[in-house]
Amino acid sequence: MASVSYPYEAPVSQTLFDRASVVTPGGVNSPVRAFRAVGGTPRFMVSGSGPYLTDADGREYVDLVCSWGPMILGHSHPEVIAAVQAAVARGTSFGTPGEGEVALAEEMVARIEPLEQVRLVSSGTEATMSAIRLARGFTGRTKVIKFAGCYHGHVDALLAAAGSGVATFGLPDTPGVTGAQAGDTIVLPYNDLEAVHAAFHAHPGEIACVITEASPGNMGVVPPLPGFNAGLKAACAQNGALFISDEVMTGFRVSRAGWYGIDGVKPDLMTFGKVMGGGFPAAAFGGRADVMAHLAPAGPVYQAGTLSGNPIATAAGLAQLRLLDEAAYERVDAVSAEISGLVGEALTKEGVAHRLQTASNMFSVFFTEATVTNYDEAKKQEAFRFNAFFHSMLSQGVYLPPSAFESWFVSTAHDAAAIERVAAALPAAARAAAGATEEGK
Ligand code: PLP
Repeated sequence: MASVSYPYEAPVSQTLFDRASVVTPGGVNSPVRAFRAVGGTPRFMVSGSGPYLTDADGREYVDLVCSWGPMILGHSHPEVIAAVQAAVARGTSFGTPGEGEVALAEEMVARIEPLEQVRLVSSGTEATMSAIRLARGFTGRTKVIKFAGCYHGHVDALLAAAGSGVATFGLPDTPGVTGAQAGDTIVLPYNDLEAVHAAFHAHPGEIACVITEASPGNMGVVPPLPGFNAGLKAACAQNGALFISDEVMTGFRVSRAGWYGIDGVKPDLMTFGKVMGGGFPAAAFGGRADVMAHLAPAGPVYQAGTLSGNPIATAAGLAQLRLLDEAAYERVDAVSAEISGLVGEALTKEGVAHRLQTASNMFSVFFTEATVTNYDEAKKQEAFRFNAFFHSMLSQGVYLPPSAFESWFVSTAHDAAAIERVAAALPAAARAAAGATEEGK
């Protein structure tokens, strides 16, 4: 890292990072935020408005992370803020049922046909953890199939060969996860149905569920090959296992009904987070009513949460979902197509080998020539080029995910002026990527 020169300093962020590093491990509350993969000082943000973020040094950035997905209407959308302010004025948490959580659940169920019932929780991790427990409780089986490069939160059993920060840092298995917790997890290559059939064959009557990202974004964007999700569903149905589609990232982002709205494959259970919380900690799992009936207090599988269905979070999520009509998705799709197109043009012009992969309005760039269909292929990219590209964009006021293994996210608020700023920054960033060397990473 030492040989990289960062185009400018961020003294206030640096001071905050120094303070944070004393009281918080690594100075951050979620690992990828620390910029370790790309180097340099993480920017401490103080405000967000539309497509822009402002950091503690007073610099403005076009935000292409959107809080890792949730901010699909941009920052500080007036109607979302108004809903939050109205909810806050009524009180912040009651520890009782409230109408807001009913309305949010109704909105979700109305959009997604296989979602017959839904239980609200506070993070995507909690959603996938609870869905796995329910699948085990429902089937009376223990084993879980997951795919290398897919990230489902930091659930013990699901961290093996995970994407997102685990991929960014090239971590092997995580210390602290016991053999017993990991031993029931079968990790298979993504997009490989043969491997799935072989696993069911090798473990008859033992596999409770298959969990997959509906369309993965945590090893970079690697969409399912045609028929993959349908094949998973069929394999599960044939073998008495549940098919869990993790839509924490894609849910209400890639279409009105998430990835289900695109491929129409009916999962038994689904998980959600990010967009449905409108920038607050709200997440959910749900699906078949006969399966959800096994959940306490209706059934024996225990699951609970002090702040589940929090009135502020549900007000924000509901306000955001209600604004997400077809026109909004058309806008996000158009912004995504325009920005990803500009990225591709700039890199092509500089002769940088790259692959832009898209899944509806999610996209990422791999610094490799070959199509990426699984995690092993994703890891073959020249990630050092991304780091040079990232820092050039950052220095020109464009905030990208600080990792080559993450999806980029845009919003309805990315207008022509914001897109123009991205376009203006790209030529220098593409040159930086072209000139990057592995030693310089
Ligand atoms: N599942 C997927 C597909 C995700 O992308 C994430 C987070 O990025 C999670 C689960 C975990 O969600 P959270 O970070 O809210 O725990």
